[in-house]
Amino acid sequence: MRPERPRVFGPVVDAETRCIHYSTPLDVIAIRFRCCGEFYPCHLCHADTVDHPAAQWEAGAKHERAVLCGVCGYVLTIEEYAGVETCPSCATRFNPGCKLHWELYFSRRHIRRQVRAAAKARCLTVLNQRSASTRDR
Ligand SMILES: [Zn+2]
Ligand SMILES: [Zn+2]
Ligand SMILES: [Zn+2]
Repeated sequence: MRPERPRVFGPVVDAETRCIHYSTPLDVIAIRFRCCGEFYPCHLCHADTVDHPAAQWEAGAKHERAVLCGVCGYVLTIEEYAGVETCPSCATRFNPGCKLHWELYFSRRHIRRQVRAAAKARCLTVLNQRSASTRDR
């Protein structure tokens, strides 16, 4: 049974929430906006559809479920989305370019901490690989 998915508003072009602005294979997320609480595929869809300015989620809202995976219908929290490159539920890759627009949707403080954590994790992986290959020799 499929979980009930939130409705996505705006000029959505397919069932995986691609829109007229962003429609590469990786563009499969929709974002719930702070201002109206509705899901839109992107900030341009929101701007085209409503007549109010978009509001961004404040830093304390990291546990809000605000990012919809258009492939499986899972809704990620802001914190979860900040830390992943793929859907935690169906493993679909998300467009890394979306995070360049991060501050259109979320507080900058969410991403800064997460990016630091991701960089640290990558460092540790490299170190582990290095010590593993030293051991092999
Ligand atoms: Zn809105
Ligand atoms: Zn759009
Ligand atoms: Zn998914």
